[in-house]
Amino acid sequence: MKKELLDLMNCPNCRAELNDKGESLVCPKCGYAARLVQGIPLFTDVPATIEPWEKVERGPDKGTAWRKSNWKFLNTFVSQLPAEAKILDVGAGHGDFADIFEGRKYYSLDIVPYPEVDLVADLGEVNPFKNSTFDVVVLMNVLEHVYESRNLLRSITRIVAAGGSVVITVPFLLKVHQAPFDFARYTPYFIEKMAADSGLQIESLQGYYDTQYLFNESLGNAWQYSISTQSKPQQFVARTLVFIIQRLINWFGKVTRKGFIASIQSQSNPAPVGYLVVLRKND
Ligand SMILES: [Zn+2]
Repeated sequence: MKKELLDLMNCPNCRAELNDKGESLVCPKCGYAARLVQGIPLFTDVPATIEPWEKVERGPDKGTAWRKSNWKFLNTFVSQLPAEAKILDVGAGHGDFADIFEGRKYYSLDIVPYPEVDLVADLGEVNPFKNSTFDVVVLMNVLEHVYESRNLLRSITRIVAAGGSVVITVPFLLKVHQAPFDFARYTPYFIEKMAADSGLQIESLQGYYDTQYLFNESLGNAWQYSISTQSKPQQFVARTLVFIIQRLINWFGKVTRKGFIASIQSQSNPAPVGYLVVLRKND
């Protein structure tokens, strides 16, 4: 366990200071205990039904167009933070974006005890952090996997310092993934209302727009699900057409902006791959 982590936490039951007893973190006042497994405190049980992710190599140029847009957005945001900013990465998994936080006061959390995380907790249920602890909390592609997302945001708001931020990326036009733990897609209006209900202000709300990517996703779908049920001659024609259309779309990609992040206010086409959001907690 990171040494300074204990200073940031207290008992989620009664808010007394926790003691490190080697095998668990124990509250001397109410007896609450969080097990330590390989140095990682477990504040909530790991859901038995969940399948841990395989580790995938991530970086600024790796993964889907959406992933790359996330990297660019987060990297720009983090590069403007002061060196002493305390950052909590919620739903960090294997640390997809960890390189961005290199050398910073960075803590990561998940509901699954991945070897890369500092603690395990479902913050919507149990939040062991002291009030106003973090300057930034990031939720990268997490909210769509959280059933009670409003509870989670409320819980997170408590531990953000006045003037601090919550950074969110969340897909909008993206296929169901990590099934069955994929519960929602959010409109900007839901995000706005959820933020206001938690006492957060919208600092920026942007979309990642990528027509070429969306076309190709749909074509991939057609290839997989819409063609194989047709008669043989029809399949041949359909596959030939997909091949031709794919070539056309790639040409199209060469003569247009491939993908870009822009304020949703300036867009006449409100159909982004996902939203990139900065929320601010007022002083
Ligand atoms: Zn206690």
